[in-house]
Amino acid sequence: MTLRLYWKDPYLWRFTARVVEETIHQGQPAVILDRTAFYPAGGGQPSDRGTLNGIPMREVVEREEDGAILHLLERPLRAQEAEGIVDRERRFDHMQQHTGQHILSQAFLRVAGAQTISFHIGHEVVTIDLETADLPEAVAEAAEELANRVVVENREVRTWWVGEEEVETLGLRRSPSVEGPIRIVEVADFDRNPCGGTHVRRTGEVGPIKILRWERRGGGVRVSFLCGWRALRDYQGKHRRLLQAARLLSAGEADLTEAVQALQRELKEAQRNLSLLQEVYVEETLLTLEREAFAAPFGELVIHVWAQLPPGLLPRLARRLSASGPRLVILAAGGSAGLLAVACGPGIPVSAQEVLERIRSRLGFSGGGGRSDYAQAPLPLAISMADLHRIIEQIREELAGRGAESASSSS
Ligand SMILES: [Zn+2]
Repeated sequence: MTLRLYWKDPYLWRFTARVVEETIHQGQPAVILDRTAFYPAGGGQPSDRGTLNGIPMREVVEREEDGAILHLLERPLRAQEAEGIVDRERRFDHMQQHTGQHILSQAFLRVAGAQTISFHIGHEVVTIDLETADLPEAVAEAAEELANRVVVENREVRTWWVGEEEVETLGLRRSPSVEGPIRIVEVADFDRNPCGGTHVRRTGEVGPIKILRWERRGGGVRVSFLCGWRALRDYQGKHRRLLQAARLLSAGEADLTEAVQALQRELKEAQRNLSLLQEVYVEETLLTLEREAFAAPFGELVIHVWAQLPPGLLPRLARRLSASGPRLVILAAGGSAGLLAVACGPGIPVSAQEVLERIRSRLGFSGGGGRSDYAQAPLPLAISMADLHRIIEQIREELAGRGAESASSSS
């Protein structure tokens, strides 16, 4: 079994050890030392990183059979002795999060009687699962407040070992999940918990503890939070985004909510006006297009091309025009939301799909589709309006025949 130096001194960043075994673990070169300062993944705390004789560490795990600590390396060590250097920033972050978690868990127990049933230090956020049906905002705030007070009081964090028989007398927050000697982590006069993790010396080192959000999970509540440097980085990022948003809205940061609400109201009003205008436009345009309709052997032919039109209007116009009689309607609009729409009213002997395909193949693009009464295709930006006019005019002549051609004002 490897001697775990991090239990006695979690601030040991550099150490030397004797190599006990070099092996392969899950296809990777692995080393077992007689002692180590590298924490292996476990108890919600991720494993350490760093180097052994300069070789980067991929993972640190505990071997189930004998509790030996396996250091998985990028390449074989091939040495009798090793100097280990622990990635200090990563480990200290884990110490801040882990001690912060002990404090916050005790705070939830005191404020809401909510026991912590699991804990996880993630890459981004830290979570605890609370044994409680719900978590009112005021309770979360009270727990956060209490936790931060314990941080500011800079209480001592102490660890020691006890025998199983002593456990009952210690008033632990949770019962131990392992047998044999138990390691106790104590936040002075506040919390005592069995734990094998690495912790800071005094609560002041934890830094700010900030709850981010919580959600129901199974029968309990999962709370996401950050401690220390993570909390500060999060605050910096949020503050930067808040200032950017305030600048974009020409508002003070305190008035941001009101500014967004005002913007939402304005947008709603503008959308209402826009749809009113579109109603008027559709009705006026229908009248105009009906007046411009060409006579054709099968009924009427309505053709119109716009340089640009808001999306949605074209299909609406085409359907309305074709609904009221034997009309073949071909409408097109260019621009970024360009569209070609063909609609066939009752009694029209050709299908909208066929007409669409004829126009499409002559203009040389594909896409879109539809049924016999209505078909549409997005118009590629590369199609010139002049080409579009020319092709549609050709189709018109073919469909309308000579009689209609003389009725056209454009010929
Ligand atoms: Zn712990």
